Amino acid sequence: MSLIIVNIATIKSRIKNAAEYSGRNANGIKLLLATKTVSAENIKIALETGETLIGENKVQELIEKAEKLKAIPHQTHFIGHLQSNKIKEVIKFADCIQSVDRIELANKLQKRLEFDNKIIDVFIQVNTSYEESKFGITPELALDFALQVKQLDRLNIKGLMTIGLFSAEKERVRKCFRLLRAIQDKMLQKDISVNELSMGMSNDLETAIEEGATIIRVGTAIFGKRIYPDSYYWTENK
Ligand SMILES: *Cc1c(COP(=O)(O)O)cnc(C)c1O
Repeated sequence: MSLIIVNIATIKSRIKNAAEYSGRNANGIKLLLATKTVSAENIKIALETGETLIGENKVQELIEKAEKLKAIPHQTHFIGHLQSNKIKEVIKFADCIQSVDRIELANKLQKRLEFDNKIIDVFIQVNTSYEESKFGITPELALDFALQVKQLDRLNIKGLMTIGLFSAEKERVRKCFRLLRAIQDKMLQKDISVNELSMGMSNDLETAIEEGATIIRVGTAIFGKRIYPDSYYWTENK
């Protein structure tokens, strides 16, 4: 049996245990397979276990794999930094964009979606770790930004996304997730439909679930180590 299948089972039990620990129902927590650098063949193995949600970071990879995976029912979220000049392709191949983090991008998405006569699901990405290298709107600006995005009728706001601090100090990581939850509360009070919280990865999914994650994004713990460092995907200096 493929190691991928074994790893998915392990992740499922980690989700279940973390949900139980925090008195939550594991059915309320979706697993997104973070598939950057993973081959279509290996993604297929994962989808055939019954998983239905993948996330890609790069537009080129998204396009190449969409073609190869089209026979298998699944949804694809775009979870990487989105450059304005790639909007057209992303809208064509992704079901949701989790990384909306600036008004210029939101406005350009709106325009292109009007042109295509489409609506797309979006998450607002928040930089809860305040690391300069990370993308995402600053927490202090998130509410105003979300109110602006709410005005754009082609963007269907589903939730908030964050990448926690990359640290072995669990409580510092927890702070990031707790902050996202607090921002969610404020937005819900303003009738912004941010019902989903996309947070938690291979190393910190338990903490994220304890803090209310509804989508966790897992790559390494399922598909193994990647050859590129995460900075290649997460920062501008590549
Ligand atoms: C790569 C990536 C993940 C998954 O990270 P792992 O540590 O490999 O589980 C989650 N979210 C985003 C935005 C990513 O780029």
